[in-house]
Amino acid sequence: MPQPAKNGPALPLRRRFRYLAVACSLSVLLGLTLRLLLFEGPYRPVEPLSDDGIVDIHCHAAGIGAGGSGCRVSPALQGSYKFGIYLKAFGTSREELAAQGDDVLVDRIAERLRNSRRVGKAVLLAMDGSVGPDGELDAARTEVFVPNEFVIAGVRRHPDRLLFGASIHPRRKDALERLDRCARDGAVLVKWIPSIMDIDPADPALDPFYRRMKELGMPLLTHTGQERSFTGARDELCDPMRLRRPLAMGLTVIAAHIASTGSNEGQRDTDRLRVLMAEFPNLHSEISSLTQANKIGYLREALAHPEFRGRLCYGSDYPLVNTALVSPWLYPLQLTRSEMARIAAIPNPWDADIALKEALGVPPDIFRRTATLLRKVPDS
Ligand SMILES: [Zn+2]
Repeated sequence: MPQPAKNGPALPLRRRFRYLAVACSLSVLLGLTLRLLLFEGPYRPVEPLSDDGIVDIHCHAAGIGAGGSGCRVSPALQGSYKFGIYLKAFGTSREELAAQGDDVLVDRIAERLRNSRRVGKAVLLAMDGSVGPDGELDAARTEVFVPNEFVIAGVRRHPDRLLFGASIHPRRKDALERLDRCARDGAVLVKWIPSIMDIDPADPALDPFYRRMKELGMPLLTHTGQERSFTGARDELCDPMRLRRPLAMGLTVIAAHIASTGSNEGQRDTDRLRVLMAEFPNLHSEISSLTQANKIGYLREALAHPEFRGRLCYGSDYPLVNTALVSPWLYPLQLTRSEMARIAAIPNPWDADIALKEALGVPPDIFRRTATLLRKVPDS
């Protein structure tokens, strides 16, 4: 037997559609009005950058070990939804890597850089793993491993586009020899993610490593702030305050991402970084990842605070910049509709990144500064 309707007779379908259409139009109208009222324009007046040949200080590589690359991604990360997103952003797939080897991933980075109108070169970053008490790689605790040799080989295939960003865990028993070898192989910096690699930058045992870096003129690019690209992280190790030790020794340190999204001792990491910036002229930072959806507001901060003035350089955090995390449509209060559409239509990930940051008000000196911070390598 048919049940009687509980809430009276249903509205005729046509009338329901009409209500829906009116509601939609009203909310669009409300959105447009709000945007008109709240529109503020770029964070700083736009100064278009005339020169090309920008250097990206923060470009990741990765691999699954195909073709004997020595790269490694833990089963936990390979099983995570993030892994597929990363491979797609790199413009490759598990099948392609298995068939052609991990080198294809680096070749694709170089190819995209060659097609970029704005970015000339990128520092391709190796990534060392966790190290056990015996001073050897602890494979079980290493989530991502990108050996220096893999990156060196890629840089040698594409010297016109790639620079070598070394990664050496300072508690490896042969850390100093590795550092010397990487310097001979043309490293322009050493990169750490302390929260993932299990490095405490404030550990006095690292002094000999810092001293050797300084002698070599090697800067340290180190992740600061929260890290969410992996399955786990010890965020307290990425507290900017832990960099006080190498800074006091006179090492050039580049704290990545203006220490965005983390906090320690009840203070935002970015605020802690600002305190250090005021104290140490050898401390720098970079703007990679600051346009991501989870970091809205940080680029504004980077451009507004006087402690950061003259101390920031350009980085992309490729391949993350090539995911849905970054889009000009996230900036309806800073960019006009036509600007958002123009930037969204730029196919090259580096050109789109530069265009977005430029339109948001990143000044030319930030784009130009990267090259001045890197270790000078003969013939690079
Ligand atoms: Zn990164």
